[in-house]
Amino acid sequence: MTVAPRFSVDLRTDTITRPSADMRVAMAQAEVGDDVVDGDPSTKRLERTVATLLGKESALFFPSGTMANLAALLLLTKPGTEVLIDADSHIANWDLAGSAAFAGVGMRLVRPLESVMTASDVRNVMRPDDAYGTRASLLCVENTHNGAGGLITSLHELNALQALARDAAIPLHMDGARLWNASIATGIPLHQFCQYADTVMVAFSKGLGAPVGAALAGGAHHMRMADDIRKRLGGGMHQSGIVAAGALYGVENNLQRLGDDHAAARVFATAVDGVRGARVVPPETNIVMIDLPRPVAEDVVREAQTAGVGLSAWTPSRVRAVTHLDVSMHEVAEAGQRVAAAIEDVIGR
Ligand SMILES: *Cc1c(COP(=O)(O)O)cnc(C)c1O
Repeated sequence: MTVAPRFSVDLRTDTITRPSADMRVAMAQAEVGDDVVDGDPSTKRLERTVATLLGKESALFFPSGTMANLAALLLLTKPGTEVLIDADSHIANWDLAGSAAFAGVGMRLVRPLESVMTASDVRNVMRPDDAYGTRASLLCVENTHNGAGGLITSLHELNALQALARDAAIPLHMDGARLWNASIATGIPLHQFCQYADTVMVAFSKGLGAPVGAALAGGAHHMRMADDIRKRLGGGMHQSGIVAAGALYGVENNLQRLGDDHAAARVFATAVDGVRGARVVPPETNIVMIDLPRPVAEDVVREAQTAGVGLSAWTPSRVRAVTHLDVSMHEVAEAGQRVAAAIEDVIGR
């Protein structure tokens, strides 16, 4: 049984999708074993599929993206060092400082000059390599970048970021919770994005619609160490095939349709852009950031909620809408009209 949604069109986030009837059947019928004792066949199948798609030697299934990112930090950093990372990234903002609490690392926040972090932005904040400054141990890239509006870091830029990391003799981790979206939007295979990173996290519970789970992929040696870290964190899951089957179903059935979410995001953006001075970040994937001319994001969110549309207030003057597989093009187009009216109302007051 599922609970009735609070909104008729819920665009607050893409994690709210519910497993479809077919996905539930795949989960119910999954072949299972004990993944902590001697391997769960459905989990292994998912891990092999993801490793192949990402072009990495090995992948590990995790209960969440948060834990997979933390495992990457524990794997690639040392306590008392710092991570070079976009100031608006998930790891630096929404893991409740797990990086500090568990990995003992600081965050060296990079504020991009333009929309997404470039190698030149990173170079501007890097400390000189001497005995006085805190040493960087890792470079992190979020792709697509949620806080920037679901924007894609290009292969060209990833190449430059990798070169910078190599010069500094540090590894590169990609938080690719929504890397699926970058691949579908550009037509560039996932493994091409991943070739620049030592480790990559991908999430199954966003656009792919699985109930839970993420994977961390990388070299075989790294992933053997990450397997120990996962167990230490309490991420060893016994009959994990039940949930892995949902994730695999998402990869096999819901990946290509992400293009529909991107098309819906463009329609939504067109409906609200320019209304009373509101400006959208032109969407490249499934996220629409609306910048309001005044700090009235909470008011717009409340007004939209009254009209049955779920949005989130990202900053005092920025509102976020996310399209996903539980909302149709028709619903999103309708939501765009209602949100445009809400902005009209609030700004016109
Ligand atoms: C959702 C998300 C995460 C965390 O994934 P969970 O499975 O919710 O823990 C990490 N990074 C980014 C960019 C995300 O969007």
